[in-house]
Amino acid sequence: MTEVNIKELLSTYDTENLTIATVCSHSSLQIFNGAKKEGFKTLGISVGEVKKFYDAFPLGKPDEFFAVDNYRDIAKYADELRQKNVIVIPHGSFVEYLGPKNFLNLQVPTFGNRHVLMWESDREKERVWLEGAGITMPKEIKDPRNIEKPVIVKYHGAKGGKGFFIAKTFAEFSKRVKHDKPYTIQEFVMGTRYYLHYFYSPIQDNAYKLTKGSLQLLSMDRRDETTIDEVQRLGSIAELEELGIHPTFVVTGNIPIVMRESLLPQVFRMGEAVVEKSLELFGGIIGPFCLETVVTEDLEFKVFEISARIVAGTNPYVAGSPYSELIQTDLSTGRRIAQEIRYGIKQNQLEEILS
Ligand code: AMP
Repeated sequence: MTEVNIKELLSTYDTENLTIATVCSHSSLQIFNGAKKEGFKTLGISVGEVKKFYDAFPLGKPDEFFAVDNYRDIAKYADELRQKNVIVIPHGSFVEYLGPKNFLNLQVPTFGNRHVLMWESDREKERVWLEGAGITMPKEIKDPRNIEKPVIVKYHGAKGGKGFFIAKTFAEFSKRVKHDKPYTIQEFVMGTRYYLHYFYSPIQDNAYKLTKGSLQLLSMDRRDETTIDEVQRLGSIAELEELGIHPTFVVTGNIPIVMRESLLPQVFRMGEAVVEKSLELFGGIIGPFCLETVVTEDLEFKVFEISARIVAGTNPYVAGSPYSELIQTDLSTGRRIAQEIRYGIKQNQLEEILS
């Protein structure tokens, strides 16, 4: 549980003069660019020397850099950050760099609901949440001796799919598995992958309406994962495995994509169910989130993961996506976050969207 009292943190804030801050990585160019478009000051938290490559992207460069020795130390600078009226936008790397405990206790107003972290980072709780919402997830295989079809083995807390592997039999599994780390065995779902980027606002009613607030679909992507996505250049997976070369799932980039329009009602129904369940379980998943899905040949969605904050898959859409263009031109997820904060200020509802 976070011990942050948002009301108290905001009590000293000049809300007419907020600064949007994030860690200089992941989706920071887009976050800074979106914040600037909405008229906010921006601050980039970076380790050591100021990141030189931002000079090459003036519209994505923060107005100010805040250098720290180590990301884990950000908490030590909470007073200074609060004096600058900082609102932190967490992204995937932000939480990873700080560590979950430091993130939960960071005494700086943060966009979204920090309680979601507990439900997202624990694979069992994640399943309770998603299956409780009626979402279909890939089957879990508790006993590897029961492997009858291709499975994917995922090590807990593995960064970017590192070390994950596919096995088709118990023998294959036994040969590859490393027992020193906890893992989950999941049915390998055959189909096409879509990573769906939603935005839930508990305070605005101008999109797909939910019991409280409304839901938008801003974009979708497909991850580019090495070596699995290009392994066929060298031969079939089976051939390569014979040689001891195994495909891996390390994310190196993101590819823009759209899906059959007839699938969109299902996309919204899934998003709706996930948000409604989150409201029941922990006060709601606020702001951007992503469902990582496989669509099978029967046009069924299987959701293998949820990311509860801005994902790097939104980066292809700094200037809007084929979906967000139908909401407002030039609308990225980073900009949408800044707009939500603007709206919260205007309506005096910041406490509803920050934690
Ligand atoms: P994850 O860390 O759960 O996001 O998984 C990393 C990558 O493994 C995904 O981006 C997918 O390419 C792949 N993957 C994960 N789970 C499954 C699954 N059940 N079936 C097929 N591919 C999967």
